[in-house]
Amino acid sequence: MPNITYEETLANVNTNSRPSDLKITDMRFAELEGAPYPCILMKLYTNQGIVGFGEVRDMASKTYALMLKGRLLGENPCNIDMLFRRIKQFGGQGRQGGGVSAVDIALWDIAGKAYNIPVYQMLGGKFRDKMRIYCDTDIEFHRDSRSDGQNMGYALKKRMESGYTILKMDLGINLLYGVPGTLTAPLGFFEEQRRLSELSRKLYPTPWEADAYNERVAVRNTKDTDELMERFIARNNARRHTPKHPFTGIQITEKGLDYLEEYVSEVRSIIGYDIPLATDHHGPIGVDEIIKLARRIEKYNIAWLEDPISVQYPEQWRKLVSSTNIPICTGEDIYLAENFEPLMNVNGITIAHPDPLSAGGILETKKIGDLAQKYGVRMALHQAASPIHAMAAAHIGVATENCWACEFHAHDVAWWNDLIISKMPKPLVNRGFIDVPDLPGLGIDDLNDEVIKEHISSWDQGLWEPTDQWNFEYASDGF
Ligand SMILES: [Mg+2]
Repeated sequence: MPNITYEETLANVNTNSRPSDLKITDMRFAELEGAPYPCILMKLYTNQGIVGFGEVRDMASKTYALMLKGRLLGENPCNIDMLFRRIKQFGGQGRQGGGVSAVDIALWDIAGKAYNIPVYQMLGGKFRDKMRIYCDTDIEFHRDSRSDGQNMGYALKKRMESGYTILKMDLGINLLYGVPGTLTAPLGFFEEQRRLSELSRKLYPTPWEADAYNERVAVRNTKDTDELMERFIARNNARRHTPKHPFTGIQITEKGLDYLEEYVSEVRSIIGYDIPLATDHHGPIGVDEIIKLARRIEKYNIAWLEDPISVQYPEQWRKLVSSTNIPICTGEDIYLAENFEPLMNVNGITIAHPDPLSAGGILETKKIGDLAQKYGVRMALHQAASPIHAMAAAHIGVATENCWACEFHAHDVAWWNDLIISKMPKPLVNRGFIDVPDLPGLGIDDLNDEVIKEHISSWDQGLWEPTDQWNFEYASDGF
């Protein structure tokens, strides 16, 4: 046998790079709108040409990721857990978890590409080949169908015809606004809320979008800083006068419950009973009112009530779970597995519903699934962003035993699949499932700048622009 040099041997080994010499060199962004929500795509660059794709939580701020850049440059991106633990302290509940989560996902993508391994395999392999996807049917696409159960039923029926095997719709007290005798609250409360909402609408012409979205448009388009300050003060004022769910004191009357029950009954009469139907966006009402509503609609076999009350009060969740047969679900704004524990400890949820872009990324979301499994709790994944997020969620989902389903909001966004260049067949979500591929990392070769340019956000039109001003962000972080 001829002598073979180390270099010759290496030439026959499938090494996409030399992982031990990898270093993080840069972090850049592109922001989208209409996907259907504002999305913040991230690229994490290395010294060997491998680029990892990440994503900050929809409707968050890329600053949450940029402030981490100086803490990552020069590090080996394959040391995912070490780097996660270093930056973990800079994430928080809700959108604040978006920066840490984006970085984590990009690190997994880089490591997968460097070692030529799919993310699901690095997590320990598959429990299933395909991830079941449920498609939310919400206000953006079915604004008119919210007014009665029949229209909502037909909208959901269309989802079934597209192959989805689980459905979700909104069912909230907003359906009762303006219907006399359906809601009880301090006299004048709804009028005041309407006044604030109209004020907000005047300031922000697309009120169904998040405040943050409109604020950014304002920042971009307004040259007059006094006017801008006035807008921000008005926004904060409106927020100050809008009580959180437990503190509104709103009660649903029997007539209101009849109305909501009839709505669900109409939906079920159209979609039948063979398919699970979850509900979301019920409030703002407190736990006792949710229990009243839950008992009224139990007989329609509701798959889960999503985020019915505020996550800060575990005892209220325990009370809710023990008061109804409907599974109770929350978690899309919870950061880290440790923050699910108070709810698990009191048996306060039956479905854990983390969003990998808020929860802390890929490994942390799997840890949430494993924690839930210990308590006999299922996991479903919240996902409302680009194909980067969808693929991260799909890899987690197939690699986590108790993961039941993953969300999808972009069924009606024609260009959503074209955001990525990949060997994966399109559409990614095919007849209600994502087929998780044996491709390195997330399975995405590149992002399609032509499509991104067409849908770049109106408040930040930068496309992968340098972020050198964040290279030396530093504080004494020894927490
Ligand atoms: Mg939700």
